[in-house]
Amino acid sequence: MTKPKVAFFDFASCEGDQLQIANLEEKLLELLEHVEVVSFREVMKEHSDDYDIAFIEGSCTREADEARLKKIRSNAKIVVAIGACATIAGINALKNTRPLDQVRKEVYGDNAKWYETYAARPIDAVITVDFKLHGCPIRGDEFLALCKALLTGQKFVVPDYPVCAECKLAENVCVFEKGMTCVGPVTRAGCGACCVTQGAVCWGCRGLVDDPNKNAHKEVLDKYGLKAEEVMNKFNLYFAYQGGPK
Ligand code: SF4
Ligand code: SF4
Ligand code: SF4
Repeated sequence: MTKPKVAFFDFASCEGDQLQIANLEEKLLELLEHVEVVSFREVMKEHSDDYDIAFIEGSCTREADEARLKKIRSNAKIVVAIGACATIAGINALKNTRPLDQVRKEVYGDNAKWYETYAARPIDAVITVDFKLHGCPIRGDEFLALCKALLTGQKFVVPDYPVCAECKLAENVCVFEKGMTCVGPVTRAGCGACCVTQGAVCWGCRGLVDDPNKNAHKEVLDKYGLKAEEVMNKFNLYFAYQGGPK
């Protein structure tokens, strides 16, 4: 049987999601029994434009990205956006909250005019995306689950309930009890509330649940007298594109 050909691409990103995949080690070797990787800049120098599945990391942040994205879309049967930068513009969208000229000057100094850049957008603002792997970075097990679903024709389900649900299952003490702030009530689950479990808060790296006003974790909101919009307005680290603090 012919193996599906897989390619990885990066746009404005730290490449942390591709690193998560490269770090799968033995599981990656098992996956390679079922797919042929034809492009993966982080681990190999070969490249081919003949691929079936394209995994795209990073945000669209300049005009030249659009043509490259459209070419990938026309080559691939399936396009997967991987990581917050690709799915929700991630931390790249922080620059959208300030005047672009000011941001360019801060980053590139006197050479600002050499570098074309515009407001950061997720991949699906430019091309159709078939699947999204959320997180910053993505989870290796979720990447493998998607690959398995693609290879077997099974459905890949992304949770559309908030992190609070997983946080409760993990029996964490809510950080609001400790006077801290957390955007778990409006953030898409799927990470097991790992940041709270490890003593931090949820910063929202998996993006908003669909329709946060309807799907926010009501029990937590009611307990602390909050509204979904108030929670969304707490941080814009990851919500700047989707609708963070105004
Ligand atoms: S989502 Fe996070 S890990 Fe992935 S490229 Fe963006 S900053 Fe890096
Ligand atoms: S608000 Fe944060 S700490 Fe509290 S239950 Fe939700 S995810 Fe957990
Ligand atoms: S707890 Fe929040 S910030 Fe941490 S991985 Fe999950 S969604 Fe991302």
